Amino acid sequence: MAASQRASVAPFFAMEILKAATERAAGGARVYHMETGEPGSGAPKPVLEAAQAALGAEKIGYTEAHGVLPLRERIAALYDERYGFAPSAERIVVTTGGSAGLILAFLAAFDVGDRVALANPGYPAYRNTLQALGLEPVLLPTTAETRFQPTVAMLEALERPIQGLIVASPSNPTGTMLSRRGLAAVTAHCEQNGIRVVSDEIYHGITYGEPAASAAALSPNAVVINGFSKYFAMTGWRLGWMVVPEDLARAVERLTQNLFISPPALSQRAALVAFDCRDELEANVARYARNRSIVQQAFPAAGFGALAPCDGAFYAYADVSGLTSDSEAFCQRMLAECGVAATPGIDFDTERGRAFVRFSYAGATEEVEGACAALQRWLT
Ligand code: PMP
Repeated sequence: MAASQRASVAPFFAMEILKAATERAAGGARVYHMETGEPGSGAPKPVLEAAQAALGAEKIGYTEAHGVLPLRERIAALYDERYGFAPSAERIVVTTGGSAGLILAFLAAFDVGDRVALANPGYPAYRNTLQALGLEPVLLPTTAETRFQPTVAMLEALERPIQGLIVASPSNPTGTMLSRRGLAAVTAHCEQNGIRVVSDEIYHGITYGEPAASAAALSPNAVVINGFSKYFAMTGWRLGWMVVPEDLARAVERLTQNLFISPPALSQRAALVAFDCRDELEANVARYARNRSIVQQAFPAAGFGALAPCDGAFYAYADVSGLTSDSEAFCQRMLAECGVAATPGIDFDTERGRAFVRFSYAGATEEVEGACAALQRWLT
């Protein structure tokens, strides 16, 4: 017996590096962690307190499949605050992380065999999840020229029709964004051509210039994925949400009843107060901004090639073609010789990623400073 063909998805090299970094640290050597896309700080303090209080006072059982109403209402209000547009709470679905949101969106919007376009480089779970669900990822080879983002011209140049498009702004791994105009152009093209947009907005709130625009405000048919893992620094709480178009709301509800029963009750309870933790959350963003400036100064000085414009999220996608043509071996050597753990670009673009490395600067500023100094010594 063997695993199914659909299960033959690529491994995640970031996790291999994390394993090697953990082994190195266990042996007593210094490791500078820049490999995982995880906020260095944990959940805001009031979130922890709310969870502790709920544990002592309530049964932690199942909830409604699409999440408890007060949380859905609070998330709907966030749209008004952030984007000046107010979806009804019926359109908000609380999910078991943004990851479950992606599965629900793909299942609700597409049929087996449908073609879904996405930027390459991109978050590997997009193509791997599409593939595992019997959908065809259509990779759009983007470059720094379009900030590694899709354009209408790229969609028009496709030889065969597509049924879906994934956009991610800010993007993982590049940290680059589509401008509001760029996103509006792409969503308008998709509206006109019956292409369903799935917009991964999980890095919204972590931007350093123009704030991110939401596809939900631009297109009534777009499915939005978001969650508590990045801006709210709550990765392990496994909580996310979707904004679903009215024509998909019932389908998503039926799917989530069957696939997940309900998102975690304790996390939902605690997340309700996360929206009131603005000071703590904005202090995180200020730290990312400091770390970003350090990286932007230190990396070119250390000998790295061009960095993708760091518009948002907490990633620097560095061109290392001047140093290697094998980013995986390069990352292993970098870890072994100077203790800096980062993710080879092949996770995000299996071919051209050989010439790129993704550095996450979501950790403590001392960690980022230490990594930059170690890299400088190593490379010069
Ligand atoms: N989308 C992107 C682009 C991500 O980087 C991540 C986390 N690495 C996710 C979705 C999923 O996050 P979670 O399931 O923790 O919400």
